[in-house]
Amino acid sequence: MRAAIAAHEAGVDVAIVTKVHPVRSHSGAAQGGINAALGNRTEDNPDNHTFDTVKGADYIGDQDAIELLCQRAPQEIYQLEHWGAVFSRHETTGKIAQRPFGGAGFPRTCYAADLTGLVILHTLYTVCVKYDIPTYEEYFVTDLIEDAQGGCAGVVAYDMVHGTIESIGAKATVMATGGAGRVYRPSTNSHSSTGDAMSLGLRHGVPLKDMEFMQFHPTTLSPSGVLVTEGARGEGGYLLNADGERFMSKYAPNKLELASRDVVSRSEATEILEGRGVDGCVMLDLRHLGRDKILERLPQIRELSMAFAGVDPIDAPIPIRPGAHYHMGGVHVDINGAAPHMPGLFAAGECACVSVHGANRLGGNSLLEGVVYGAITGESAARYIASVNGKGFTASPAAAKDYERQVAELLARDDGPKQHELRNRLADAMQDKVGVFRTGPELEQAKQEIDRLKEEFQHVTVDDKGSIFNQQLIHTIETGYLIDLADTMVSGAIARTESRGAHSRTDFPERDDDNWMKHTLAYLDDNEIRLDYSEVTMTKYEPQVRSY
Ligand SMILES: Cc1cc2nc3c(=O)[nH]c(=O)nc-3n(C[C@H](O)[C@H](O)[C@H](O)COP(=O)(O)OP(=O)(O)OC[C@H]3O[C@@H](n4cnc5c(N)ncnc54)[C@H](O)[C@@H]3O)c2cc1C
Repeated sequence: MRAAIAAHEAGVDVAIVTKVHPVRSHSGAAQGGINAALGNRTEDNPDNHTFDTVKGADYIGDQDAIELLCQRAPQEIYQLEHWGAVFSRHETTGKIAQRPFGGAGFPRTCYAADLTGLVILHTLYTVCVKYDIPTYEEYFVTDLIEDAQGGCAGVVAYDMVHGTIESIGAKATVMATGGAGRVYRPSTNSHSSTGDAMSLGLRHGVPLKDMEFMQFHPTTLSPSGVLVTEGARGEGGYLLNADGERFMSKYAPNKLELASRDVVSRSEATEILEGRGVDGCVMLDLRHLGRDKILERLPQIRELSMAFAGVDPIDAPIPIRPGAHYHMGGVHVDINGAAPHMPGLFAAGECACVSVHGANRLGGNSLLEGVVYGAITGESAARYIASVNGKGFTASPAAAKDYERQVAELLARDDGPKQHELRNRLADAMQDKVGVFRTGPELEQAKQEIDRLKEEFQHVTVDDKGSIFNQQLIHTIETGYLIDLADTMVSGAIARTESRGAHSRTDFPERDDDNWMKHTLAYLDDNEIRLDYSEVTMTKYEPQVRSY
């Protein structure tokens, strides 16, 4: 939506295509906040924010892109505020309040209680409505339209309400389909976070970058995987093991619970593996914050803990464990959000890899990426359109017909596995073998299972043969996307024989800057993943040992 607003403001005729209603996007589940060095009460500034992000990324983020993110952050926060986003306020100054977050040297995370994503999403949607930007809701994009020159000429989409397959022509297409957390289970992600754009790009020759880096969030509820925001630790929550010990003092003596996420997740996993957990979890204790602070700052967390763990955090610690949360990798784009391999194609938000998060994202930097790079990408798509203005564009009925034929073939099949069986096996393999800690042999086993699933998916069957709101058909197509993405994640993880950020190989426990200070690029060639590499952009921050 931020990209659409930017393109509209640049004078472009723009429309939004989305498989769920815009305000039901996963961004609405974001609780903790959005980072910006506003500099109104602290000594903080965008350079500090840049350094924290570079370090959090374990030095594999592109420093030019990170600088741009952090420099433009305050402007975007004030823009959101002027559009009506109701941020929580500092009690004495009345300015936008900021809370401490993991891996950050200053309290830099702006928030709206623990409903930050929802507030931002509703604010952006209101602006889209004000600008009369048409929204094709419940249109599920199933393919990119490729023109004769290999450029992107729009998308093919399944109109769920009317049960038809349509082509939507466009001079420029910005993909913003969010994360791929559903490759795993449990996952903090919505059921709609199936990484669709990444897979569509991959199938059209666009490489995916740094796919081996999946972030495991330290505090998710068991068994559902529902998230407890990092804001709970930002507000002062403790992590305890079965002995009641604040174990983070062993692993990150300075930052404790507010070390970066990869560090905290590994520490928890170690405590659990070494027998100091409680039923496969450790405990998050908020009781000392007191009833009033919990009700004011963390109301949703209290509700979720009561509903999904049967625990009221005012009275008892919450059992939590690491869970799949955020995907650092994504569609390889340049600093303008353009996919260099397919003219006219752009990507922004979690599905894109610019890369600002490198091997590990800091909490509060993803909503920020969504608005900053959303705006930048919308602006650059508008510039691209101006540059090809002479060129006409039309919808491509042939592309829609072709997809219609593929769907008919799928629905005609009656003998074969069901998508949910394949999806559960995929998620189990990823969870068991491509988790917080990884080893070469386990990754190879995961790869073998993915190869089997790829083969079996060729024969997948769908029971519902109808055309209107065929959710089973949608989930089947999404499962195909997830299998593609898992393949890129595992292939990258097997190749990367080092430990960096969220990618932690117990057989290669050290970071290896001599050999691995580079981005992974995954291509799909003849249905097999081929890896290549590209340079990391460094500006002023030399790699250092990373400790918290
Ligand atoms: C529980 C949770 C809490 C989080 N908390 C924070 C936080 O506090 N701070 C922070 O910075 N980050 C947080 N994150 C991360 C952050 O929220 C996400 O990375 C970010 O919001 C993703 O935004 P997005 O716009 O890229 O995608 P999304 O918000 O996921 O939106 C994707 C959109 O693409 C559409 N779409 C997808 N596939 C298709 C298709 N095939 N056809 C048509 N439309 C499609 C969907 O309908 C949806 O509208 C959190 C994430 C989760 C899961």
